[in-house]
Parts: sequence; C-alpha cells; structure tokens
Amino acid sequence: MELPRSCYRCGSRYGRRRVRCDCGEPLWSVERATGDRLETGTSKGMWRYEQDLPVSPPAGLARAVGDTPLVRVEGLDPVAGCRVSVKVEGQNPTGSYKDRGSAVAVALACCGDDAVGTVSYGNMAMSTAAHAASLGRECVVLVPADIPPGRLSLIAQYDPTILRVEGDYGALYHEALALERELPVSFLLSDHPTRVSGYRTALFELYDARPGLPDALVVPTSSGGFASGLWKGLLDLREAGLLDGRGPRLYLVQPAAADPITRAFTDDRDAVEALPPEAAGETVATSLGNPDPPSGTRALTAARETDGGVVSVTDDEIRTAQRRFARRGGLCVEAASAVTLAGAARLRDDGELDSDDRVVLIPTGSGFKELGSGEPTVDPETVTRERLPERLETVLTG
Ligand SMILES: *Cc1c(COP(=O)(O)O)cnc(C)c1O
Ligand SMILES: [Zn+2]
Repeated sequence: MELPRSCYRCGSRYGRRRVRCDCGEPLWSVERATGDRLETGTSKGMWRYEQDLPVSPPAGLARAVGDTPLVRVEGLDPVAGCRVSVKVEGQNPTGSYKDRGSAVAVALACCGDDAVGTVSYGNMAMSTAAHAASLGRECVVLVPADIPPGRLSLIAQYDPTILRVEGDYGALYHEALALERELPVSFLLSDHPTRVSGYRTALFELYDARPGLPDALVVPTSSGGFASGLWKGLLDLREAGLLDGRGPRLYLVQPAAADPITRAFTDDRDAVEALPPEAAGETVATSLGNPDPPSGTRALTAARETDGGVVSVTDDEIRTAQRRFARRGGLCVEAASAVTLAGAARLRDDGELDSDDRVVLIPTGSGFKELGSGEPTVDPETVTRERLPERLETVLTG
C-alpha cells in the first residue's frame, strides 16, 4: 500500500503517525482533487468536497464548517488599490478558518480511541475543543501559564481539560509531538497534515465561486499551516488538470514585530530561520507572530512557487486596517486578519498588485471575540430623557 504522507520538499513518504520528515520539514497527506462536488443530501459547507477529504463528515459541529461568504467589497478598493473581494472565514462556527482543519483532524483522530489535544490559547484551542466536544471526545488544551482571563473563558465554554504549562511555550510544539508517541493522545497542532487537508477546502470554494480563482490571494501567516493548505489545494487542482494558467499568486502577510518568513523571503534565503528572542516582539495581531514557524519554509516555498511574496506590516497599519474593514466593509475582523488589507496596500505600493487585479483578502478570524474585554475605546455623551429630542435634532440636522 502507498504510504499516505509525503514531504513537499524531498518527496519522502511516511505512514499515518508521522507528521514531520527526516529532512526536518512538515508532511502533508497525499491527496487529489477530483473536481466533483456533492450538491445534495447531508453534505453541506466544506463537506461538499468530501470525496477530496480523508474522512466523512461526522454528526455535529463539523457539518457547519465552510461555505463562507465571498463578497466583493468596493469600499476597500481605494485602500488596497485593486479590485478587492473578501472571503469571510470568521463566519465559521467558532469564528475562524481553523474550523476547516479541526473538522477533518478531530474527525479522523476520533476514528481511533485517542483523546485529542492542542497547543494554543486562541482560535485553534477553541476550534479543536469545540469539535472534540461535539463528538463527545476528551480534549486537552495546553495554554501558557500567563494566559489572559478572557481567553480562558472563550476556550472553557467548550469544556476541554485546560492545562497551564510553565516555561517556554514555543518549545511545546516539539514536546507535544514527543509526548504523543508515549500517550493515548493525538496532538492536532497548527500544521498537522490532517488540518492542512481541511484547509484545502477554502481554496476549493474559491475555485468553485464565480468568476473563478482571482489573480492574487492575500492571507495572514503565522505557523504556515493555512498557507500550506491553500497551496496544496492549488497543487491538487493542477494535478487533476483543473487549473488553466498559473493560478493565483499567494501573498503572505506577517506582523513586523515577528516576521521570520518575510525576512527569509526578502533576503532570498532557502529556509526560514527562527527569530532570536531579542528580535521577536509583541503585536496586536495576537493570532500571529510565531518566531519559529513549523511550516515557515513550506509557506515561503508556496509564496515563491506561485509567484507571490511575503510582506510585513506594523501594528499601526494593522489597527488602521481593522477600522477600515469595519467602516468601509462592515466587517468585524480580528487584528490578525486586518493584516491582509494593510498587506495589500503595501503590495500595491511595491508594484506587486495592479489596479486591475482581482484580489481576494482572507480575513481568517472574526473580531468579535477580541472585543468587550479591556478598556472601552470610546466614551459617548450621556443625555437625559428630557434633552434627548433636542440633542437628536442637533445630531440629525447639524
Ligand atoms: C491561526 C491563525 C492564523 C495563522 O495561521 P497559520 O496557519 O498559523 O499560519 C491567522 N489568522 C487567524 C485568525 C488565526 O487564528
Ligand atoms: Zn523531506
């Protein structure tokens, strides 16, 4: 039987329990695209692509994932300097694209007896826990010891076992993979091959949407898992002979405070190197900024192979872009997703994007979960009932 996992770089093949190659790079699943879409019955959302996924849709939450809106947002054209559409991934059940990966990864892991686990204190933690809960499975979430209280509540609503872990949180990726070999648990980490399988469905949806794939895709990138899935989706379509021409250019955006993939791209290096601790800073884009991205080199390769690129944006640019998404697009996106608009503006300045280009920004997560904690950002005036008519009149008539 053919081994089901492969390395994009050296082509080595492995069995189902391996997630990284001996060459050091991450593995993905060997899959094809058939181009067949199920339009009826129980298959909805991302499960329209069931034939191209490694598992059938289980009951529960997993069924609700995908089929996110792709909308033309003219109001953002002047900001990005091109023709902007937005794929609203924040509309997935737990508010981010992570659900596409969790649906597949948790469903597959639950075919066996293992519990599932993850290392995250953000969207991946919520998404993994929610999917495990919907299948009645134990889920262990490893969070940093100093996790903000608001985050704990967001994760806890899905009732996983949460363990605060002391020490270097970044190193937990490899430690979790080592623990998985000894214990009855599958750690579904950011770039797990089965997650990447599920992320391909975002690309398939773009392919199926009218008028077809755009000239460029702009996506936020941290670990490189999502970028890997989009690239794999493209490669699968190409292999199936379903892609005419080159397909969209893939542009990745990172926060300037922690941008190892941008640095490797700009310096024309073959591989992404971990940022030294003194070079990695804090960013408002809390879902991004991995100083040692496990699929960084694969994401870099995806950008290069598709003729795209990698850019960084500052926290000020991110905040401005987040307000613009809200005020010009009516979209509440999280800071990590606002980088797409800030990045597109940069790419336009750099001459990478053209005014005629059809560009799809993928805001990966909803901004609603970032709101409502912390200090208010405005302090509106208070009016008495007596004065309300008069105040309203002034507001409305100037
Ligand atoms: C996880 C996440 C990302 C980064 O995706 P990677 O696969 O780690 O590159 C971007 N945006 C949001 C909202 C996320 O939750
Ligand atoms: Zn390899």
